[in-house]
Order: sequence, then structure tokens, then C-alpha cells
Amino acid sequence: MRRSFRLVKVAGIDIKVHITFFFILVLGALPWSSEYGLPGALFGMILILLLFVCVTLHELGHSLVAQLFDIPVREIILLPIGGVAFLGRNPSKPMQELLIAIAGPLVNVVIAALILLITGATAYVGMLDQQGTVQGAALAPSFTTLMLWLLQANVALVIFNLIPALPLDGGRVLRAILAMSMTYQRATQIASAVGQTLAIGLGLLGLFAGNFLLILVAAFIFIGAGRENVEAQARTVLTTLRVGDAYNKHALRLEIGDRVSKVVDYILTSYQPDFAVMQGNNPIGIVTRDDVLRALDTTTEDVYVTMIMRREIVKVDASASLDAVRQLMSEKSVRVVAVYDGIAYLGLVSLEDIAEAFAVITFLQRQREAREVQQANPRMSGQ
Ligand SMILES: [Zn+2]
Repeated sequence: MRRSFRLVKVAGIDIKVHITFFFILVLGALPWSSEYGLPGALFGMILILLLFVCVTLHELGHSLVAQLFDIPVREIILLPIGGVAFLGRNPSKPMQELLIAIAGPLVNVVIAALILLITGATAYVGMLDQQGTVQGAALAPSFTTLMLWLLQANVALVIFNLIPALPLDGGRVLRAILAMSMTYQRATQIASAVGQTLAIGLGLLGLFAGNFLLILVAAFIFIGAGRENVEAQARTVLTTLRVGDAYNKHALRLEIGDRVSKVVDYILTSYQPDFAVMQGNNPIGIVTRDDVLRALDTTTEDVYVTMIMRREIVKVDASASLDAVRQLMSEKSVRVVAVYDGIAYLGLVSLEDIAEAFAVITFLQRQREAREVQQANPRMSGQ
């Protein structure tokens, strides 16, 4: 994700923070600074930093369990709304998804338990009785306040994430449990519908209570649940399609001696965005439209395509499903792969090709479904 930079690397996973995170630091400092000045502001910032340490540990919980199942984890990004762990591919079994999903909230349960253990639970019970709440700056900055605030934050993280609405961990748990007795697609449809229904409920609650944050969260869940559903449909369709049927059989190819001007010609006349640079029957590199634009930007010379091509070629077999290829692309962070039939090179396939294949297939599927409905209810078709 752009505008984010790396903080540390843990277990081979880059942990990055998004630039907007710093607004949250300031936001966290404000309620404490009005009453306690600069020390209060610092205290508020420490609270937010510690909260994000907890969020990071939560995401690491998901990530480490994913790694146990040989699912690569590309990075964890800390956003103002929380953290996101980017998995290289989806878990293949419901049980794996369940364990990965539950591992995050479990980390916060452990943190909350540790806080209670270290500082003694009884102190808080008395404090809560006196003060009612530590929301905002109700208590003076102190170690006990800090611990109490963190305890509440971790409990809140557990409760929020276990709401059974799909983009949240609870929704993933629900889908995994459903997927044990039905197809992944059907399980996602149900979990997504549950998520959207809960989101509408939360949104209405926020509206009546005048709680803007709640409305925002509801919108986030509603959109996320819908996206998960579309994604699951795509996954189902794409697992049935072979990459051998999706690559461009009439693609233009480049030779070692070709220069950039030739690619420019090809791009303008064919709209083909990616080209294999061939040595005999084998590709030795890939030139994309972006590579060409960059070359035109940096030099006025008509350089050889071999000077600007990418030499790393990810190979896939023609029998691989489009879903598997899409996941491999995400794992390797590439947009274009080379399709082979055994050792024979066939052509290139890009992320855009896969999206297009998906669009065509779903269009044809909808047409067929519409025809079936018409045949079943002949009256509907006659106007
Ligand atoms: Zn989580």
C-alpha cells in the first residue's frame, strides 16, 4: 500500500505503518492535553502507541498461524482503523480459516489476562466502582490508568472482532463453520448476508444514538461483506477455468534485437500491454507498457528491449486454474506470468486477462440463468 513505510520485520513479515496513523496519535493526545498539558499529551500518545502494539500482536497472531499452514504473509499494515495482515493466498480448508481467524482475538484475550495478572484484578474493580469509566481523560495519567485503559481496549478489540460480520474475524469464523457442511461460495453468501444485516442494525443504532463512529464502522462492515461475497464468487468461477484457455494465443512477441520504438508501435496498434522477449522458442524476459513508458521518460535513445525487460519470469502450467494463478501472482507480487505446456512456452497471462475472463464467464452465466428462468416461467418473457 502506498504512503506506508516499514517499521520492523518479524518472522519474515514486513510491519508497515500508514502515514495517516500520525493523525491518530495527535487525536489520542488531544483529550489528555486539555486537562494535563504536555505530560497529558505524551500520555495520550503512549496509550495510542501501546494500543497499536496490541493491534500488531493481534495481526501477528493471524499471520503466525497462517504461516503454520504454509500460507505466506506478505505484510502487516497498521491503518488508523486498525491493522490488516495481507496473506499470500486464501486458506484452503475451513479449519485453517477458523484457526487463523480465531488466533487474532485470542492474542488480545491473552494480553487482557496478563494485564489482570500483573497488576491484580481487584484494584480495577474498586477503581471502576469509583470512577465508572476511564473513557477519555476521566482519570489522571498514571501507570494504573494506563493499564486499565489497555485492558478496556483489548476487551473492546475482542468483542468488536468477534461480531459475526464477514470482513471481521467473527465473520470468518462463521464462514469457516458453515463451510464445513456446504460449499465455500454458499457459506460466504450466508456469512456476507449476516454481516450486511448486522451492519444495517449497527448503522441504525448509530443513527439513533447520534454516534458517528458507529455509523462509519457499520458502513465499513457493509461494504466489506459485499466485497467478500463478490470475491468468493470470483474464486469459485476461477477455480474451474484453466490458464491454458485464458492466455492470448495471438500475442505479438519481441526478439532480442528489437528496440523500444518497435514496442511503442505494437502498443499503439494492438493495445497489447505485455510482451515476451523471445530467444528462439523461449522467453528470456517480459516488457510491460509501464516499462516502456519509464524508458521513454528516462532516455531519448531508442534502447534495446533487453535493456528494459524484467528477467524474472514466473512460470505456470497450462493446467493450473485461474484462481491458483491469481494467488501465485499475489504471492510473488507480479502482474504477468508465462504459461507453459510442459516445457513448451505458450504465452503470457496478466491479472487483467484473468479479470476479463471472469467478467466474460459471469456474463455468460447470468445470461444462461436468465434463459433458464424464462423457460421456467414463459409468461415472464411475453410482454
Ligand atoms: Zn483480526
